[in-house]
Amino acid sequence: MRVFSFGLFFINTFEEDSMIQFQNQHITIFQSALYMTTTAIIQTKKAVIMTDPTWLPKEIETIKHHVDEMIGDRQLYIIYTHSDFDHIIGAGAFPEAKVIATRTLHHNLNKEEVLQEIEAFDQKYYLKRNYKPIYPSADIIVSQDAQTLQLGEVTLTFYLAPGHTKDSLFTVIEPYGIFLAGDYLSDVEFPFVFSSYKDYVETIRTAERILEDHLIRVLVPGHGTATQNEDEIISRLYFSKYYLKELSRNNDSLIDVLRNKYTFFDGMKSIHFDNISLARR
Ligand SMILES: [Zn+2]
Repeated sequence: MRVFSFGLFFINTFEEDSMIQFQNQHITIFQSALYMTTTAIIQTKKAVIMTDPTWLPKEIETIKHHVDEMIGDRQLYIIYTHSDFDHIIGAGAFPEAKVIATRTLHHNLNKEEVLQEIEAFDQKYYLKRNYKPIYPSADIIVSQDAQTLQLGEVTLTFYLAPGHTKDSLFTVIEPYGIFLAGDYLSDVEFPFVFSSYKDYVETIRTAERILEDHLIRVLVPGHGTATQNEDEIISRLYFSKYYLKELSRNNDSLIDVLRNKYTFFDGMKSIHFDNISLARR
């Protein structure tokens, strides 16, 4: 059995390593094979704080194994950055977690539809999960900007971030300087404006204020690569501003800028056209 358990350990370690995008003493970031979606796990003395456990069944098992191995007697908190189905797909695998989310996410009237999207996804790709997907119910509800939560030595500061979806959330974790940005400030996606252009513009202002008011050391987007580089963080912010402005100006050459900048642009270009019609309204 020794060899077997060693083998099992090896497999788990290998799967875990192949998913880890970024790691330092406070934070480990897992990256899914799908859409470069990230799950961040932050270790503090009193708590373990995770974002959006996602996507594929094996990936969620790997993340769960990682959490089980390191958590000890600490409480697990999960921040749901927003209610798009790919971000809440793992919620059912962590029933013991205390959930943090916006009031809008908590009171979403379309919970059933979100669950149906998960069901349709698993049907389409013949995926079985060892847990039942659920829509998360918040234990800690974020209802205003700069709301804080003290967990031992760390302070979480929350900001409402509507625009991508109505229920999006930014979290800053200090003193580590971690900015959990949800589906904003990505290096692989231009702004996806699903709920409101006006809100999106305002939320980018909020992001700018966060960079002024907090010492940010690591930016973690919901899709793409986390970065510790200050110039890179600023350039992502400025590109979002530029993009939103050019959208409203109806700049035809914007599409060429996007094609040059984003490797997967052809897979997401319909969202750019949707953004144009939303910005015009
Ligand atoms: Zn997303």
